Amino acid sequence: MTDTGAFAGQVALVTGASRGIGAATALALAAQGAHVILTARDTKALEAIEEAIHAAGGTATIAPMDLTEQDAIARLATAVAERWGKLDVLVINAGVLPTLSPVTDLNLPGLNKAIATNMLATQALLSRFDPLLRKAPSGRVIALTTHLARNARAFWSGYAATKAAQEMLVECYGQETANISKVRVAIVDPGATRTAMRARAYPGEDPKSVKAPEVVADAIVDLLLQEFPSGTRLTVNPKV
Ligand code: NAP
Repeated sequence: MTDTGAFAGQVALVTGASRGIGAATALALAAQGAHVILTARDTKALEAIEEAIHAAGGTATIAPMDLTEQDAIARLATAVAERWGKLDVLVINAGVLPTLSPVTDLNLPGLNKAIATNMLATQALLSRFDPLLRKAPSGRVIALTTHLARNARAFWSGYAATKAAQEMLVECYGQETANISKVRVAIVDPGATRTAMRARAYPGEDPKSVKAPEVVADAIVDLLLQEFPSGTRLTVNPKV
């Protein structure tokens, strides 16, 4: 935690912070003074992001874990409660894209992994961190979605269905907390963004033709700087 910046004194947890949109968001929040807790499975990649944050004058803590292990989420919440006693910002960013396939041929292990990562981990994060978000002066939850959560597309059902479920959990949580706490939620659709997930979905695409994750990270920081109403939806423009 640093003394300067718009998020000075605030604690932010970013899931999927080892690469892509999560890593860029963690760096952007730390640059504004937040102490950022970085989670993902790849410890070395998390350490590299942590080092980049420190090199830029920010502070961060890594918490390597697999979000499909619900006990790990509970342990992290306990650790955050003991060390900081609150959580100002929760960025639910980690996600997986199951192999594209017709509904009739969906690979069940892949679908179960997407359900566990995109949906069940979201519920566990909201459940375990809700008390800490309420203890913050202005707890905020940002969840990364896709337009496919509301627009069916052939062969994308595993991803679209689990992201739709994730959106519903976050939106319902936002309504449930709206009048009884200061917690606010927002759903951010990053649009096409230059990450490993995008490259896997569109292997023939020139990565330079889609925007960098930093564009999304800046949009998330801009949103967090506003007094946005709970339930806000933001689509990040296609700036490359
Ligand atoms: P990405 O580059 O594939 O990164 C995904 C992140 O999630 C990684 O840090 C990964 O870390 C983490 N993760 C995956 N499974 C995990 C697990 N079981 N436990 C803990 N961490 C896990 O993806 P991205 O493109 O940045 O996507 C970020 C978010 O934006 C996702 O929710 C995605 O649905 C959404 N989105 C992306 C695009 C796009 O064009 N890129 C478009 C629309 C929506 P480890 O592998 O180290 O665990």
